[in-house]
Amino acid sequence: MAGQNFDFIIAGAGSSGNVIARRLIDAGKTVAIIEAGPYDTNPDITKVYDLGKLWHSEQDWDYRTLPQAHANNRELHIPRGKVMGGSHALNATIWVRGAKEDYDTWAYLGCDGWSWDEVLPAFKAIENYPQGDPETRGHDGLLDVRSDYETNPLQDAMLEAGQQAGIPLNEDYNSGNPVGIGRIQANVKDGNRFNTWHAYLKPVADHDNLTIITDAKVQRVIVDGDTVTGVEI
Ligand SMILES: Cc1cc2nc3c(=O)[nH]c(=O)nc-3n(C[C@H](O)[C@H](O)[C@H](O)COP(=O)(O)OP(=O)(O)OC[C@H]3O[C@@H](n4cnc5c(N)ncnc54)[C@H](O)[C@@H]3O)c2cc1C
Repeated sequence: MAGQNFDFIIAGAGSSGNVIARRLIDAGKTVAIIEAGPYDTNPDITKVYDLGKLWHSEQDWDYRTLPQAHANNRELHIPRGKVMGGSHALNATIWVRGAKEDYDTWAYLGCDGWSWDEVLPAFKAIENYPQGDPETRGHDGLLDVRSDYETNPLQDAMLEAGQQAGIPLNEDYNSGNPVGIGRIQANVKDGNRFNTWHAYLKPVADHDNLTIITDAKVQRVIVDGDTVTGVEI
């Protein structure tokens, strides 16, 4: 790879890396994206209910905490994805925005640009959630969000029991009000896991301006003065 030049080099093809790469490709830039793990050929990635099989697998960085005094000194496992798709390749795919009041409080405290009304267009642009109210939900984004998947009777019973216990039904916890009980909204397409690799970068994987390098760990960022000129893999 020595001597190859790109407008941008992205280290890590996880939730964020794939989106950034796609946006730069769409903007006409040349991009190299370097991922420490392999392509997502492990079939256990496909079905969300198989996510436990991915823990401690080759697609898991398999981190451990330090001994936790308040957990009987156990060293807890922290799974993180090491594969195209990153942690979104082994996560639970649950699609959750924060509460409207939280964003508005951040803006009130001085975090310009983070009020609910300001972040909402960005949220809507990401997602494709057909049954959502177009006031608050996106219908044309690249990332599929679904809640009309098949459930098992236990899930239906839990939803019913929650309401019987007095928890209000919330038809859309991503509309700004997350309070209540409702069906999980998930990043799935045709019943399978659908992450930002699938949604953003894979469809343009053959683009002339894109170079995908897998199984290569970025070891060092090369800095010349105050300019980053490359990475070492
Ligand atoms: C088990 C689990 C369940 C979760 N469930 C949910 C959920 O249901 N809903 C939700 O919203 N969030 C969930 N999360 C959190 C969510 O998946 C992460 O917050 C998100 O994926 C992080 O995105 P990221 O781009 O910051 O990092 P990642 O997606 O982890 O991407 C980082 C990428 O960089 C690569 N990388 C790292 N170092 C290097 C290097 N030196 N060189 C090259 N490549 C490198 C990694 O291999 C990885 O592919 C879950 C996470 C886990 C682990």
